[in-house]
Amino acid sequence: MTLGWGLVGASAIAHEWVIDAIRAAPDNEVVAVFSTDPGRGARYAADHRIPTAHAGLQALLQDPRVGAVYVSTTNDLHHGQVVAAARAGKHVLCEKPLALEVREAREMIDACSAAGVVLATNHHLREAATHRKVRELVAAGAVGDVRFAKVFHAGLLPPHLQTWRLRDPRTGPGAILDLTVHDVDTLRHVLAAEPVEVVALTQQAGMASGDIEDGAMTAIRFDNGVVAQTHDAFTVPFARTAIEVHGSAGSIYARDVMTQRPVGEVVLRTARGEEVVACQPENLYVRTLRSFSAAVRGEGRPTCTGEDGLRSLATALAALQSARTGRRVAVQLG
Ligand code: NDP
Repeated sequence: MTLGWGLVGASAIAHEWVIDAIRAAPDNEVVAVFSTDPGRGARYAADHRIPTAHAGLQALLQDPRVGAVYVSTTNDLHHGQVVAAARAGKHVLCEKPLALEVREAREMIDACSAAGVVLATNHHLREAATHRKVRELVAAGAVGDVRFAKVFHAGLLPPHLQTWRLRDPRTGPGAILDLTVHDVDTLRHVLAAEPVEVVALTQQAGMASGDIEDGAMTAIRFDNGVVAQTHDAFTVPFARTAIEVHGSAGSIYARDVMTQRPVGEVVLRTARGEEVVACQPENLYVRTLRSFSAAVRGEGRPTCTGEDGLRSLATALAALQSARTGRRVAVQLG
């Protein structure tokens, strides 16, 4: 049976990646979009060949063709929209950060579970062939006991995205909720470990306004003793992205991997020397959509669940609190 999608939010990310990914998944189609601006919604629908533009969320949720919603509005709206979708019996793929507070994320998880619908968080990086390979190498003991990890996720925020993320405090802006939250999920995935405490320093280099951070460096201790460092920024055009994992018997260098595109390489460095480890690149969002629609059919779980989204959010919130208070902060899950 075909899964009909309603887009909650006429967003850039849906335009750039997710509409195509839905259409690439067998038996999935985009049937409607909701925008708070009916004119913009109608133009967005026409530009993307979406049959219907709804002027209200309830109208989209009452549309019988809609079986699942993709929530990609500003971060402050995710909570209310996901709870409403769950109550209307719709499966939900929600953008990160799942919400602005752990309590809200828990309510979203509970609402979806009470309604018997799938809730997934769109941490697409888990589906990168490179990150899956790093996870596999770590699990196989290729670097021995893992001791440290580093994530390099600083870049230049493209001009068309230099909007609410940089200037509207109500929306959950800033580099930590935008980028560090992805790093945390990727680290949880590759290390198969849970963050327990965080220390962070933020920077305001002048791209973001007020006290919104446009860069951050964070150190995270995991429950298996690994200490990880993340570097996130909107302000540095020539930085390369990477993940490194350093263990007692080897190091992994995954280069150009903190990106939406299916690119990058994984290098393993041990006593045997350096080897490039082969990966089979595939579109990250298409894989995410495929696993989501399989979960809706009752086959397995989505790539990244609501609980995963709650955990990455909890660590990002600990980083924000650490930066504000100058203290080490424990990750609080509820
Ligand atoms: P956008 O700014 O494109 O969209 C957010 C909202 O802003 C939309 O819902 C829309 O409201 C409104 N909007 C968009 N364009 C305009 C415009 N030209 N004029 C007025 N309003 C506009 O945000 P993103 O797509 O960058 O991010 C959306 C969500 O997706 C965020 O939660 C973000 O964290 C996440 N994200 C995830 C990524 C991933 O790879 N997982 C990558 C990028 C973002 P309306 O619906 O009312 O029209």
